[in-house]
Amino acid sequence: MATRTIPATTEVVCDVCGRVCAPQGTAPRRQEGTLSLRWHVLDYLNQPAAAGSRDLDMCDDCLSRITKALNAVAEEIRAERAE
Ligand SMILES: [Zn+2]
Repeated sequence: MATRTIPATTEVVCDVCGRVCAPQGTAPRRQEGTLSLRWHVLDYLNQPAAAGSRDLDMCDDCLSRITKALNAVAEEIRAERAE
């Protein structure tokens, strides 16, 4: 009986689209990033009840699209407040 040792591989998977960002044996994608949301979930008395924080590891495509969406919403909110 022969024994083969298969080394472990590491894949970076985008939390948004599920795509493997850097499959084993390939060059890494141009950019990867993490969007970190830090906040507390409040109860009915407005007291912190739980951690609502979340980290999203993203590929460059999702990071770009979400950054554009965040900027667009922020601009929209600023425009509403300026009225
Ligand atoms: Zn993605």
